[in-house]
Amino acid sequence: MDHLNQYKIQHITFKNIADLQSQLFLRQFSTEELVQYYVQAISKNTNNIFIECFAQEALEKAKQIDKKINNKEKLGKLFGVVVSIKDVFCYKGHIASASSAFLENHVAAYTATCIQKLLDEDAIIIGRVNCDEFAMGASNENSVYGAVQNPHDPTRITGGSSGGSAAAVAAQLCMISIGSDTGGSVRQPADFCGVYGLKPSYGRISRYGLIAYASSLDSVGIFANAIEDLTIVLQTMTGQDDFDSTCKNRTPIKIVPQKLKVAYFKEVVNYKAIEPEIKTTFLNVIKTYQKHHEIVAVDFDLLELLVPTYYIISCAEATSNLARYDGIRYGKTSQTKANDLKQFYKNNRSEGFGTEVKRRIMLGNLVLSSGYYDAYYAKAQQIRQTLIDRIQKLFETYDVVIFPNTPCLPWKIGEGKNINPDEMYLADIFSVLANLVSCPAVSIPISQHSTGLPLGTQIMGKQFAEEQLLEIAKNFMSEFNSSSFND
Ligand code: GLN
Repeated sequence: MDHLNQYKIQHITFKNIADLQSQLFLRQFSTEELVQYYVQAISKNTNNIFIECFAQEALEKAKQIDKKINNKEKLGKLFGVVVSIKDVFCYKGHIASASSAFLENHVAAYTATCIQKLLDEDAIIIGRVNCDEFAMGASNENSVYGAVQNPHDPTRITGGSSGGSAAAVAAQLCMISIGSDTGGSVRQPADFCGVYGLKPSYGRISRYGLIAYASSLDSVGIFANAIEDLTIVLQTMTGQDDFDSTCKNRTPIKIVPQKLKVAYFKEVVNYKAIEPEIKTTFLNVIKTYQKHHEIVAVDFDLLELLVPTYYIISCAEATSNLARYDGIRYGKTSQTKANDLKQFYKNNRSEGFGTEVKRRIMLGNLVLSSGYYDAYYAKAQQIRQTLIDRIQKLFETYDVVIFPNTPCLPWKIGEGKNINPDEMYLADIFSVLANLVSCPAVSIPISQHSTGLPLGTQIMGKQFAEEQLLEIAKNFMSEFNSSSFND
């Protein structure tokens, strides 16, 4: 599979959204042809990426756009852009199942704000893609539809939970995919599949219509093959929403200092379980920054606390969010006979949820129960506040903080079963911080492992400074590509 960082379907190639749109204006091909190519590519693909392709309506929308182009009518900012959505977004009249048996036939009664904003700007939603059940996972193996295969090596996972989104963009089955990131679910699969992935600040994009996992950590995220496209799609989806009081209008911070102050954590470089080539790539990232900017190794003694803090808080919130799935208001009703109400709920929930979701509901209930609340949940909240204070302080001096996205490579599909859940959770060590402190972070594909698998890096920016972060990431790409590490 080519490592492209551009869009290519059959004979059509374009660098980014702007390039696509100028080709559509020049009538190099029509929007309908474009969508036809994507529909065909989706039907031929065998990586278990798409759960459903909305072929008819996507073609219909394409025809409307062609008409507007021909009649020189006003077009939306994202006209012609073909987008897939993770199976956790509500899109009126379409199934939104969170890749769970429980919601397999759940039809959304309304459209998520972020999806509506894309539609309003003439984007074309081409289908919904596979993910981990209720966005819980790091491999996309916890899905009722089965694991997604990594387009770079179909024997391996894509990462998760937005594995279908990352793979859809990597396999050129759509241009953009909308995912969600609660603890790394956009950045880690983007890294594993060799595409760009942005997790914006908490509160930049409305969560209304996103099936909740952990409400204080969930962010809507974006996958693309061109970094400039992340900015356009982000700006389309942002803005105040009366349905999500945490989402406000923000003035974008765009100015990028000529010479950046970059921090990285000593503990990250010295992390014992990091795969050697991931470490070498990260050291090369540091060297690149050293050439052009000021880069400083900072002490961060809280690294080991990140994963426990994240899992205590996310599971506690998940327990509460998932309480609504009772098999009456939401979810499939079990056919097993129940003699009382308690047994009825038990049947519905035991049969509806998968193993990982049940594990997290139990863990969440444990940390919230009396006797354990102070020892776990309250302590995790205190640590979260300490992290927020530390990172805020750090950003008084530094412009960005850099990390690898993950300490490991995508494992073989099925191998996850043999990994103890604690070990699997540790794979999130470099990605959960951005969620815990509500900052934006972007994953960028920069290199290749000796196995041929893609390798990326992660840059975390100041809260609500996504535009600046993306500009910094773009500059870094060109500095990195023109660097040689032999000197
Ligand atoms: N791997 C993390 C988890 O399982 C992140 C998931 C996410 O960001 N949705 O919780």
